[in-house]
Amino acid sequence: MPYAYDWLVVGAGFAGSVLAERLASQRGERVLLIDRRPHVGGNAHDRLDAAGVLIHQYGPHIFHTNSEAIFDHLSQFTAWRPYEHRVLARVDGMEVPIPINLDTVNRLYGLDLTSAELEDWFAARAEPVDEIRTSEDVVVSKVGRELYEKFFRGYTRKQWGVDPSQLDKSVTARVPTRTNRDDRYFGDAFQAMPAEGFTRMFERMLDHPAITRRLGVDYADVKTEGLAPRTIFTGPVDEFFGHRFGRLPYRCLRFDHRTLDQERFQPVAVVNYPMSEDYTRITEYKHLTGQKHPKTSITYEYPSDVGDPYYPIPRAENAALYKRYEALALQTPDVWFVGRLATYRYYNMDQVVGQALATFRRIEQALPRPGARETGLEPALSTAL
Ligand code: FAD
Ligand code: UDP
Repeated sequence: MPYAYDWLVVGAGFAGSVLAERLASQRGERVLLIDRRPHVGGNAHDRLDAAGVLIHQYGPHIFHTNSEAIFDHLSQFTAWRPYEHRVLARVDGMEVPIPINLDTVNRLYGLDLTSAELEDWFAARAEPVDEIRTSEDVVVSKVGRELYEKFFRGYTRKQWGVDPSQLDKSVTARVPTRTNRDDRYFGDAFQAMPAEGFTRMFERMLDHPAITRRLGVDYADVKTEGLAPRTIFTGPVDEFFGHRFGRLPYRCLRFDHRTLDQERFQPVAVVNYPMSEDYTRITEYKHLTGQKHPKTSITYEYPSDVGDPYYPIPRAENAALYKRYEALALQTPDVWFVGRLATYRYYNMDQVVGQALATFRRIEQALPRPGARETGLEPALSTAL
C-alpha cells in the first residue's frame, strides 16, 4: 500500500509546526501533523478566555532572540508588537526589579549607590567559588548569599523541587545581574510579541494545502497505521522508547487562570514571589498583548511533580540518562527528534525554531529531493536538473 503521507509530524508546537511548514512549502511533501492536545502552538498556545481576554494557556510566553534569521523566518507568518519584558519580585514587602540591578539594591537597602559603588558592594559580598558548577554557585559568587536567599533560593526550590545547589549552573545563569538601571528581563536584540497572538501565527504557518492536521490524536494511537515512511517526533523522548531506561524527570506546572472585574491588576506583566506563597509568579496578559479590555486576566503558576511535562530538569544525572535515550534515537532510522521534550533541553522558543531549521537543513542533505518521486527520475538526475 502506498503511504498516504510523506511525513508524520508528532506535536504542533514550534518544533513540529516549523518543520511541517518547511517540508510542505520547500519540498512539496505531504505532511500529517498530529497533536494530542486539541489545539496548535504547543506550550505557546494562546486563546481568548470566557471574558474575551487573550491569555496564554500554558503561562507567559515572550518572544526574544539575538538571531535575525530566526526573527525573519517567523516574520513570514506574523507582524509584531514591540514589547520589552519587565519583571518585579516581591521581596521584603516591596516590589523591586529582577534581574537584580542598581535600583533593586538601592531600594531594598535604602541606599544611593552609583553603578561603580554597586560593583564594589557586590564584590564585598560575593563568595569566591573555585569552579562554578551549580545554580547556587552562579549567584553567590556574584552577589553574595543574602541576595541569593532573597531572590533565588526560595523561587528555585519551588520551581524545581530541588535546592539550587543540586541544579546545573545554566538554570539561574539565565537571569543576569546588572549594575546599571536596565530593568528589562531580556537583553536580546529582538524582543516582540506576535501582533495577533501566537496561535494566529501558527495558523498562518500551517495554512498549506500539503499539511493535514489531526488534533486530539496521540502518536500511540496511530504509530502502527503506516501513515508515512518518516516521522518528526517532538514529544518526550523517553515516552517514545517506552521509558525503557526509566523516566526522564520533567517539571510540571499547574495554572490557575482567573479573570478579574478590574482593568489592571499589577504594574508589570509578571511579578515573581521568591520568598513567599506556593506559586512562583503571577502573569497579567494585557501587558504582553496590549489588549484594551475593561476586565483583566491573570495566571498563578504552581510548580508540581505531576502533570504534563513542561521543563526538562538540568542536572548531571538527568543529562546522563538522556544520553542513553539520545543514543537510541540516533539508531532509530527515519525518525527525527526535535524540540524541548524530544532533545531534553531547556530551550526557549527561538532556540527550538533554530533547532527545527537546522534539522530541516540536515533532512535536505540526507534525503533525495522529492521531485524524484513526482517525476519518476532518479534522485541524482532530479537534483541535477
Ligand atoms: P511543545 O510546545 O511542548 O510542543 C510539543 C507538542 O507535542 C505538544 O503540543 C504536545 O501536546 C505534543 N505531543 C507530545 N507528545 C505527543 C504524542 N505522543 N502524541 C501527540 N502529540 C504529542 N520560551 C521563550 O522563548 N520565551 C518565554 O517567555 C517562554 N516562557 C515559557 C513559560 C512556560 C511556563 C513554559 C513551560 C515554557 C516557556 N518557554 C518560553 C519555552 C517554550 O514553551 C518552548 O521553547 C517551546 O514552546 C517548545 O516548543 P516544542 O515544539 O519543542 O514543544
Ligand atoms: N529564578 C529565581 N528567581 C527569580 C527568577 C528566576 O530563582 O525571580 C531562577 C529559577 O531557578 C528559574 C530560573 O532562574 O527557574 C530561570 O528563570 P526564567 O525566568 O528564565 O524561567 P522560565 O521563564 O523559563 O520559567
